[in-house]
Amino acid sequence: MLLRHTPKEEVKREALTINPAKTCQPIGAMYASLGIHGCLPHSHGSQGCCAYHRSTLTRHYKEPIMAATSSFTEGSSVFGGQANLLQAINTIFTVYNPDIIAVHTTCLSETIGDDVNQIAQKAYDDGKVPEGKYVIHTNTPSYIGSHVTGFSNMTASMAKQLSEHTGRDIDQLNIIPGWVEPADMVEIKRLSAEMGVKIVMFPDTSGVLDAPQTGKHEMYPDGGTTIPELKSTGDSIYTIALGKFASEQAAQAIDSKCKVKYDMLDLPIGISATDRFIEALAKRGGVYVPESITKERGQLIDIVTDMHQYLYNKRVAIFGDPDQLIALTEFLIDLNMRPVYVVSGTPGKYFESRIMEIAGNKVPEIKVKNGSCADAFLLHQWIKNEPVDLLIGNTYGKYIARDEDIPFVRMGFPIVDRIGHSYFPTVGYKGGMRILEKILGVLMDKQDKDAKEEKFELVM
Ligand code: SF4
Repeated sequence: MLLRHTPKEEVKREALTINPAKTCQPIGAMYASLGIHGCLPHSHGSQGCCAYHRSTLTRHYKEPIMAATSSFTEGSSVFGGQANLLQAINTIFTVYNPDIIAVHTTCLSETIGDDVNQIAQKAYDDGKVPEGKYVIHTNTPSYIGSHVTGFSNMTASMAKQLSEHTGRDIDQLNIIPGWVEPADMVEIKRLSAEMGVKIVMFPDTSGVLDAPQTGKHEMYPDGGTTIPELKSTGDSIYTIALGKFASEQAAQAIDSKCKVKYDMLDLPIGISATDRFIEALAKRGGVYVPESITKERGQLIDIVTDMHQYLYNKRVAIFGDPDQLIALTEFLIDLNMRPVYVVSGTPGKYFESRIMEIAGNKVPEIKVKNGSCADAFLLHQWIKNEPVDLLIGNTYGKYIARDEDIPFVRMGFPIVDRIGHSYFPTVGYKGGMRILEKILGVLMDKQDKDAKEEKFELVM
């Protein structure tokens, strides 16, 4: 009973979050930056913030996360961090030689009011940025939003500051994948290739945060979207943005700067959302859906049909990031399960309206909360009052799962006590199979564990 202090009775809270269902903005900005090839993320603030962001990403991805910091001291905290950032840009290009530095702010530099746009421009003007190299920047005050907001802000900055419209149309689609795992980015690329659609995807952390063990440290692994690819997004024929919270800002930026229109879709998690993604790829890419993809879909449907009795009417609580939860809610309903509690620490009115649009008349008892005070403490209270059969969320859910003896599937960010998320996708039909396998695994393990001897089944 690690959370024995969680009471059943709910008390209205307005200014207190307990066990937040989110983390801080710069973590998302740092993750997005790592999806550019040859990029060194730079945290404009104190060393402590940067160390925390790096360690959180390292724990989740089990990879060393490279990033630099402006190393604020008392002086820079009072007088501003311009001198530190200019010195840092000079040192980074001289010593670490990245293709690009992606600067994000922190609570401290935002509170001081440092103008990173002006500082970056001064770095160019002072000749601190070598020919052919780049500095991009974004604002990530962590007292607003969440890590998803930071990811969205940095991705939008890539679009605003790097995309170029040259007037020659390139027969390719932009895909903005949202905050998904490197394995998901590999899967999105595989599906696009299978469809015969040429894409440029950004950011792309595959080949960076899922790199193989070679015995040799690579400061800049092979993966990531290259700068020429990022520039070319302004000449693409269309953009497909996945996950409104993480990706729409960047899609809008390319549209307004380069007049490349976009489709805004849910993350392709589960059957219906993947169907819409495949349809969009076919429509915007001008291709037909090949038999191989129809077969994958059929395999997923076959598992659902075979195992339906273990899924039907099961009550599920889910928490984490909004784009994942929106798609997961729809998938669970497609499986005839009942997502009754949905909680995200990331604010935004669209979240509740989209969930209610998907679930409103199919799961009328659903409770949805996001933003301020939408936390794991509240979710635990809801579960204590009306229990669920399954919990899905990041590693922090293990405390609730243990105390309430609920089957638990780890999904989302961060996962710091299991592996697999970097290598096995949750998007696409294959990803749907993986989620389903995990859900069925924990539900059937519980059935086995709780079965009386005469009811203990070999074949399930
Ligand atoms: S001070 Fe702000 S930016 Fe730094 S770790 Fe804390 S929440 Fe994140």
